[in-house]
Amino acid sequence: MSMNYDYYESKVVCNFCKKQYTTYKVRPGRYKAAGQDSDFMPIYEGLNPLFYEVAVCPHCGYAFHKSMTRTYGPFMSLIEEDYIKKLQKVMDLCKERTVAEAIASFQLAYLVAKVSMEEPLILANFAMKIAWLYRLIHDKESENRYLHAARDLFNKSHTKSKESEERIQYLIAEISLRLGDIEDAKRGFSRLITGKEVSNKYRNYAKKRWDDFKYDHQTVVGEG
Ligand SMILES: [Zn+2]
Repeated sequence: MSMNYDYYESKVVCNFCKKQYTTYKVRPGRYKAAGQDSDFMPIYEGLNPLFYEVAVCPHCGYAFHKSMTRTYGPFMSLIEEDYIKKLQKVMDLCKERTVAEAIASFQLAYLVAKVSMEEPLILANFAMKIAWLYRLIHDKESENRYLHAARDLFNKSHTKSKESEERIQYLIAEISLRLGDIEDAKRGFSRLITGKEVSNKYRNYAKKRWDDFKYDHQTVVGEG
């Protein structure tokens, strides 16, 4: 076999069937973070490591992401009943992935997380990443469907970290803006802009985003 300069093969032991397999990961030198979209979607030059975050077992179909916590014991019985037994076919997603295959891998992880009743924040982050992947292929309808799901889940999310709480508040407002719920977005951003306890980081993000939006839409929503 020839040397693969883009990917290396990561060894995984499946939490469900316990069999071993290898799955592609992007080599560190093959991508570069070049910025982020206003909802924190990372923008990469070169390959996109997001495509390879979920490992899907080619033997049983169990999908794993490193953020999952319910990966043992009684949760595996739920996963067996409501996920493994219902899979129509087991996909082989262990090599190079198209965007559609990357989306499929996250959709499987999202299903596993749902049936094992992971925290809403974990589900919200999966929905967000699926929305980003649809954005890459300009499938606005599917992107918006997952943004809706992400917003609902962020609204149900709890966190003890102030940083994480502010990030969630920002994302709820940001998603509202993207979905055209301008009044909700305005309320969310102004809470971050005027809140006395809010960190400079998220106050500035909120202020910049809302100012940019007003500037871009001044002929539509403004008076002049
Ligand atoms: Zn397996």
